[in-house]
Amino acid sequence: MTPFIAKIIWGLGCVMYYIIRYPHQRRANKTPTAGRRDRMRERALMAISYTGLFVIPLIYVLTDQPRFADYTFHSVQAWLGVLVLVAGMTLLYRTHRDLGRAWSITLEIRDRHSLVTHGIYERLRHPMYASFWLWALSQALLLPNWIAGMSGLVGFGTLFFARVGHEERMMLDAFGDEYRAYMARTYRVIPGIY
Ligand code: SAH
Repeated sequence: MTPFIAKIIWGLGCVMYYIIRYPHQRRANKTPTAGRRDRMRERALMAISYTGLFVIPLIYVLTDQPRFADYTFHSVQAWLGVLVLVAGMTLLYRTHRDLGRAWSITLEIRDRHSLVTHGIYERLRHPMYASFWLWALSQALLLPNWIAGMSGLVGFGTLFFARVGHEERMMLDAFGDEYRAYMARTYRVIPGIY
């Protein structure tokens, strides 16, 4: 493994993300929405997350900037990044499959929205966010630069912590006791811990 190959793998991760999400984004565009939450706030959070997971690392991959934040590349660390990336993308694929038409990129309740509690949602209520945490972690492991590596964790982390409580409140408003009971038997992103 070389720093160049690690950069290519980071780029392949972005392509995989796009391929996994594309059909769901197309269907989501056609699925009617019954209610939307925090529209402007959600847009700002998405922009922060996108900057950290994509814009800053892309600048680094293409220009090697910011150089002052470079540190020594370790092959083992990068291989670990590959494993975490594969785990993250596999989880991302499964969550899209299980969530189906209930999926939306921002906080929305669909027309005839039903609560998904099967498949990967049986144990975790935010497995898609878990997959994004893994993706962000893989970026930190693949890119040997403190800023370009960590920006995904900071960017996605900002979105996650600002959004997750609002999302659960929205789901409680929509599904009431059904979601309350679901919350009681599941964890957010790490089975058995959080
Ligand atoms: N937080 C979830 C889903 C992310 S997509 C995860 O990380 O896997 C965000 C949309 O999914 C929200 O707008 C909400 O309408 C919907 N959603 C979240 N949890 C859901 C569930 N258990 N069943 C059905 N829809 C859900």
